[in-house]
This record gives sequence, structure tokens and C-alpha cells, in this order.
Amino acid sequence: MTTPHDDHSKPWETQRRGLLLLLCSPAGAGKTSLSRRLVADYADLTLSISATTRNARPGEEHEREYFFVDDAEFDRLTNENLLLEWASVNNKRYGTPKAPVMDALEAGKDVLFDVDWQGARQIYAQAPTDTVRVFVLPPSWSDLSRRLHARAQDSEEVIQARLALGREEITHWSEFDYVIVDKDFDRAYAGLIHI
Ligand code: 5GP
Repeated sequence: MTTPHDDHSKPWETQRRGLLLLLCSPAGAGKTSLSRRLVADYADLTLSISATTRNARPGEEHEREYFFVDDAEFDRLTNENLLLEWASVNNKRYGTPKAPVMDALEAGKDVLFDVDWQGARQIYAQAPTDTVRVFVLPPSWSDLSRRLHARAQDSEEVIQARLALGREEITHWSEFDYVIVDKDFDRAYAGLIHI
């Protein structure tokens, strides 16, 4: 006869369940560089690739940065309940495909998410005990503005819209478990590794 206790008598044989690591920040705070380095350094960490209705920026590739989809396809993903979460940011829709996340977690891998505060809230609500939420702050507003201008990917109008959105995003910092100030990449990265 087995008892519930027997089921747990060899905890080292229990397969590890993956963690969900949420990395949020206003655009330009350094989140993308941090997450790229993290997935490059940790083979057991999978980056969730989101679907979005926004256009690809120069240098971005379909299926690498995002699944770039049209409105009809995004409608299908939501209608068929294929997204773990989704939100509108800057009048464009962004969402996390559910299946690859579930597959990775079941295989014991951790999953890294680059989502906005709305996505972070939705993912946390679904798996509060398996989720770690990290917010990346820029050292200052002027620094954020300088970084957005320096990467020269967007028009001035778009940059201003992204800064305004960043102000909104930052008001949600206290909903996160950890905050990292990205003043210096190596120090910020070390902080992230520590978490
Ligand atoms: P960007 O257009 O600069 O790549 O992203 C704009 C915002 O959308 C960023 O804050 C980014 O984290 C967020 N985002 C990207 N993918 C997703 C997603 O799948 N879900 C949600 N909720 N936000 C996302």
C-alpha cells in the first residue's frame, strides 16, 4: 500500500517545475540587452516569443523578436484561447503564445518573459507561486530619453510616445518582487543573476 508520504519519499526524483521570470521596464531601460544575455548564458532558460500586430523595426526578424501577425491572426489567437495573456500597448496588440510556455515548463525549463505591466499582472495571476517579477528602471528620465534617441530606430514622434508610455509603465514598479536600476550593464546583469 502506498501512502501520500511515500509519493514524496524521494524528492530528488521529482522533476523540477520551471519558473516564470517576468522582466518589465519602460522601452530603453536595457531590458532587451539583459534578457538576451541571460538566455545566451543559461541553456535552461527559454525566452518566450510574443505575437504582435505592430510592424517589424529595422533589424527585427519574424519568429526571432516577435511573431509579426495581422489583426485577423491576432483575433484568431485570442478567440481560440491560444494566448497566456495579451494587452494593447500603443494601440498595437501583444500576446504570449501559450503552448511553447507550457511545453518548456513541463520540461523543467524556466521561461523568461518580456511583457508590459498588464501582461505581468495576468501571468502572475495565473501562477503566483511560480512567478518572479523583476522591474528594470533607467537611472533617470534624461538617460532614458538619451538611450531612445541613441538607438535611432524610431521617429521623434514615436520616441515621445514611448517616453510617455514609459512614465505610465514606471508607475507600476511596486507591483514587482525586485527592482534593478540599469545604470551600468554589468552591475545590472549581476543583480539579475543574483535574483
Ligand atoms: P516593443 O514594441 O518596444 O517591442 O514593446 C512594447 C511593449 O510591449 C514592451 O513593454 C514589451 O515588454 C511589451 N510586450 C512585448 N511582448 C508582449 C506580450 O506578449 N504581452 C504583453 N502584455 N506585453 C508585451
